[in-house]
Amino acid sequence: MDLGLTGKWALVCGASKGLGLGCAQALAQEGVNVVLVARGESALEQAAQGLRAYLADMGNPSGLNPLHGPSVLTVAADITTPEGREAALAVDGGPGKAFDIVVTNAGGPPPGDFRDWDREAWLKAVDANMLTPIELIKATVDGMAARGVGRIVNITSSAVKAPIDILGLSNGARSGLTGFVAGVARNPTLAAHGVTINNLLPGAFDTDRLRTTLQGAATKTGQPLDAVVEARRNGIPARRFGTPDEFGRICAFLCSMHAGYITGQNVLADGGAFGGTF
Ligand code: NAD
Repeated sequence: MDLGLTGKWALVCGASKGLGLGCAQALAQEGVNVVLVARGESALEQAAQGLRAYLADMGNPSGLNPLHGPSVLTVAADITTPEGREAALAVDGGPGKAFDIVVTNAGGPPPGDFRDWDREAWLKAVDANMLTPIELIKATVDGMAARGVGRIVNITSSAVKAPIDILGLSNGARSGLTGFVAGVARNPTLAAHGVTINNLLPGAFDTDRLRTTLQGAATKTGQPLDAVVEARRNGIPARRFGTPDEFGRICAFLCSMHAGYITGQNVLADGGAFGGTF
């Protein structure tokens, strides 16, 4: 299926690895020019090189001439800071290069006990996982609406639907974003002008973040890592972790021209782990 994305421009945050990189890869495969943002310059450059090589191997994504395939650009910046966002958005080069797609994403807050979280810890979580996506939405949606098409996908978490005790900072901050998105996505100045805003909720995906979390659980409980991994997998009806590649493809579909009637939604990708009917 042609997603109708060839030649579009996407800003993909948190894209040097994991789910963000999966989204960047899936979009670039569809012929989207991608601007990858992450903090560490060398990891980011390595990811971009890998993606360029992948596209070159593919030969001709979406019918593009391989010599003129999608651009893969990088901005090494902390997207949770005003300066970082300014640097990332500065790549938006005006007509023909303005962002049609923004994938918001940053590292998740650390797990812990709510008794230990002070105001600083809360502000950091709210900044990263609520205010940063809101600022990126604010900076880009009016331009999208003026051009008659735009896609925002916020990477949040299945914890928005099924909160996890030790991830209280994430539960709280991301729920704030979810409430904001539910309202703004339905604003007729956006929804009636081709702009969709949706949240994509990962369950357990095989990334460094998940591996670190599982290792942390093993250390804390004194169980072997294999046993912790196995128990987590067995709690998922699909009996496996998701892959960044399949997450990216869901993101690409939400960004596609076929998904213009889907907005304000929370799309859960968790192998069936959430047990509710809705
Ligand atoms: P990851 O640690 O594998 O990758 C995170 C990426 O974001 C990296 O490229 C990192 O450099 C970048 N990043 C982090 N903070 C940044 C910042 N301030 N500015 C710019 N870039 C930044 O993580 P992941 O597994 O891909 O997770 C992505 C998001 O999804 C996180 O918020 C995570 O909490 C959430 N999530 C992940 C899972 C999972 O199973 N992997 C489940 C639920 C929620």
